[in-house]
Amino acid sequence: MMIVMNIEPISEKSNAMTIPSVLITGASTGIGAAYAERFARRGHDLVLVARDKARMEALAARLHQENGVAIDIIQADLTQPAELATVETRLRDDASIGILVNNAGTAIGGSFIEQSTDDVARLVALNTTALLRLASAIAPRLAAAGEGAIVNIGSVVGLAPEFGMTVYGATKAFVLFLSQGLSLELAPKGVYVQAVLPATTRTEIWEHVGADVDTLSNVMEVDDLVDAALVGFDRRELVTIPPLPDAGQWDALQAARQAMLPNYRNEHPAERYRSVA
Ligand code: NAP
Repeated sequence: MMIVMNIEPISEKSNAMTIPSVLITGASTGIGAAYAERFARRGHDLVLVARDKARMEALAARLHQENGVAIDIIQADLTQPAELATVETRLRDDASIGILVNNAGTAIGGSFIEQSTDDVARLVALNTTALLRLASAIAPRLAAAGEGAIVNIGSVVGLAPEFGMTVYGATKAFVLFLSQGLSLELAPKGVYVQAVLPATTRTEIWEHVGADVDTLSNVMEVDDLVDAALVGFDRRELVTIPPLPDAGQWDALQAARQAMLPNYRNEHPAERYRSVA
C-alpha cells in the first residue's frame, strides 16, 4: 500500500464547523474543471483561477445552479507576477479557503534544442514558480489553523526522463519533491499535502504540445483521473498515481531511495573515486 497520512478526512473534520472553500488553479478546462465539478458536488464553495474568464463563468454558473455553492472567479495569468500576486493575497487573507488545488500547468512540444529559451522559462514559471508561490501563500495560515490541504498536480513524466519531455518532466519532478518535503513539514501541523501524478489524460494540454490525443494509446478520461485522485485524497495518500496498477512498485522505489539516505553522509569520497584506474 502507498503511505497514507493517519489523520481523519478533512471533510469530516471541517463539516463539524464549516466546509472549507477550495481554490483551484487552471479551472477553466481539463483536470481543474473536473476538480471544480467534484468539489462543488461535495458542497464546497469554490474560487476558480485561470485566464479564460468566459469559460470559468460558464462553468461557475452551471455548478452554482446544480449544487447551490458560491463560486468566485479570479482571472489571472499565473506567469505574470502581478496577477499571481492577486491569487497569493486571496490565499493569505481568505480564511474560508482550506484547500488549494495547484493544478494549472502546461507543456510545450519539441526537443530541448528546438524549444525557445523564453518558452521553457515560461513553462517553469507556470508549472513550478506559480505553484510554489501559491503553496507558500496558504501554508502558514493552514499550519496556524492546524488543518487544510494542498493538492499539487505533478505527472508521471517527472519520474521518467525517458519519456522525452525534459523540461516539463523537470518541472513535475520539482512538484513531487516539493510535495513530499512539504508533507514532512506540514503533516505534523495537521496540513495534508498530496501529489497527484497523472499519465496521459484526455485534455487540451495535448493540443498545446502539438499532438492529437486521439492518436495516443492508453489515454485516461479526465473524469476517471480526478475520481481516482479524490479516492487518494480521501485516504490521505501522499502520492497518488492513478494509472499505476501495483502500488507496491511505488513503495519499493521509495524504500530504495530511503535505504540510500544514510550513505550520503561520508567524510571521504567513495573508494571508486580514489584512483583514476
Ligand atoms: P489543460 O486542459 O490544458 O488545462 C490547463 C489549465 O491551466 C487550463 O484551465 C488553463 O486555463 C490553465 N492555464 C494554462 N496556462 C495558464 C496561465 N498562464 N495562467 C493561469 N492558468 C493557466 O491541461 P490539463 O491536462 O487539465 O492539465 C492540468 C494539470 O495536469 C497540469 O499541471 C498538467 O501538467 C497536469 N497533467 C496533465 C496530463 C495530461 O495528460 N492531460 C498528464 C499529467 C499531468 P486558461 O487557458 O484559461 O488560462
